[in-house]
Amino acid sequence: MGPLKISENVSLAPFATWKIGGEARFFARANPENIAEALDFAKRMSLRMLVLGRGSNVLINSGKIDALVVQIVQKNPPKVDLNRGEAFAEAGTLLQALVQAYAACGARGFEKLAGIPGSVGGAVFMNAGVLNPAECSISDLFLSGGFLSEKGEIVELSRGDMNFGYRKSVLFDKPLIALSARFKVGEIVGAEPLKREIRQTVLTRLSKQPQNRKNAGSVFKAAEGGVAAGILIDKCGLKGRRRGGAMVSFKHANWIENLGGATSADVLGLISEIKEEVFKKFGAELREEVRMFGF
Ligand SMILES: Cc1cc2nc3c(=O)[nH]c(=O)nc-3n(C[C@H](O)[C@H](O)[C@H](O)COP(=O)(O)OP(=O)(O)OC[C@H]3O[C@@H](n4cnc5c(N)ncnc54)[C@H](O)[C@@H]3O)c2cc1C
Repeated sequence: MGPLKISENVSLAPFATWKIGGEARFFARANPENIAEALDFAKRMSLRMLVLGRGSNVLINSGKIDALVVQIVQKNPPKVDLNRGEAFAEAGTLLQALVQAYAACGARGFEKLAGIPGSVGGAVFMNAGVLNPAECSISDLFLSGGFLSEKGEIVELSRGDMNFGYRKSVLFDKPLIALSARFKVGEIVGAEPLKREIRQTVLTRLSKQPQNRKNAGSVFKAAEGGVAAGILIDKCGLKGRRRGGAMVSFKHANWIENLGGATSADVLGLISEIKEEVFKKFGAELREEVRMFGF
């Protein structure tokens, strides 16, 4: 990838797993080496700069987005260094490439996160992970990361600086762009058992999820006390509830599917309806896990 290529009036729908999203006034794909150019451009044009990973956890506004939207991509593949007991990945690396890199070295670490889509940067931002069979998230292995500040400075944050919590990090409050991260390497157990474990984890996930449907995974976080939002939504009889092209999945009540042509307004309408009904029936306040983008 050479100098940054900035395009005008780009539809963002193809960049989100929900396949929902309007046009960004400017769009670019950037890696850690040319992201500073994007920041300069946004400053010169007095535009907001919005950062996208692989769009697997965002509801993108279907209207016009007056911003420079930058998708963070990888320049170099992830590296696992068994001698140092550390791995390094750029933010644009697919999380699954990191899962595979650990497994190829026979090192424990990311196998429980097998099957989670998205980039390493998005996973760090969200503190992506699983609650079942045991709680496990990217923060368990995170050592430190390199981030770009609004002023264009590179800032190094350690695990302690990240304020990781259940599907959240300090990046919710600080406008920092994740560029790269270092992770711990776990016990060396050999490649074959890890590959088997990963295959099984992926199969189990697939059996619970609607296939070939456009979605963004879980829409809501677990409710207070760790109760799965999907159970509450299901008990309200909301599976199959529709708004325009958006529908509460029959297979997994915490997922909203885009049946085709859904807009962000359809999904937002469904989200409000779900929250209202769950509150009326259980007094539980659901909070969105998906992030609103470009509103
Ligand atoms: C089928 C499916 C299954 C899923 N299962 C799980 C699961 O089991 N567990 C789980 O935790 N999640 C799950 N998700 C949600 C999603 O995959 C994760 O949250 C993922 O980590 C998001 O990464 P992304 O690159 O797609 O981020 P995006 O969706 O592109 O962005 C998410 C947020 O991170 C910000 N961001 C992205 N990259 C950067 C960066 N480099 N610097 C700063 N901010 C950044 C964006 O601005 C946005 O606010 C699932 C999604 C789908 C579609």
